[in-house]
Amino acid sequence: MGKKVVITGVPGVGKTTVINRAIEELSAEGIEYEPLNFGTCMFEVASGQGMVRDRDEMRKLDQAQQRDLQRSAAQVIARSEGNVIIDTHCTVKTPKGYLAGLPEWVLRELMPDTVILVETDEDQILKRRLSDETRVRDLEGYNDILEHQQFNRAMGAAYAMLTGCTVKIVKNPDFLLEKGVEDMKDILR
Ligand code: AMP
Ligand code: MG
Repeated sequence: MGKKVVITGVPGVGKTTVINRAIEELSAEGIEYEPLNFGTCMFEVASGQGMVRDRDEMRKLDQAQQRDLQRSAAQVIARSEGNVIIDTHCTVKTPKGYLAGLPEWVLRELMPDTVILVETDEDQILKRRLSDETRVRDLEGYNDILEHQQFNRAMGAAYAMLTGCTVKIVKNPDFLLEKGVEDMKDILR
């Protein structure tokens, strides 16, 4: 059985960048991880059924629809063998409030060894969102992002209680990507 590591962080924190770098550098050491993107698994189903046109529309869908998409993504991901890194969210900010990214019935499918929370300062996240033109990011202020990062920590603790996984906070501050990548590699080795 391979290792299952879940990586989370608010939109724009740079999860995907850190993951890709860590995977590439570990591969050079002979340690292989397959990156899996939870949102992409959901989007394949959602776009196939004509529910959305882009991945940023999914968090605006009905709660029941989002749950169905989560369930199908979890089932696909649970089938993978070997070491996997699952790129997802501790909580998703929906118009009706925070939705757990890994509700109990998703966690039971995935049973991660570790949940990583990638974090950085709220003002840096604001700046990164503004400069990313490939995505439809929600316009949020400093305090909204602060609340989201705090809520994600609380949710991470709940995941640890439910599964016995460890929770690791990895910082990804401006100009210090390499440090974040090193911390990530230490967890994955
Ligand atoms: P991302 O590319 O990681 O920002 O993910 C794109 C979208 O996928 C998010 O905005 C959510 O709508 C959805 N998504 C990703 N992971 C989850 C999850 N665990 N639960 C619910 N929705 C998710
Ligand atoms: Mg991403």
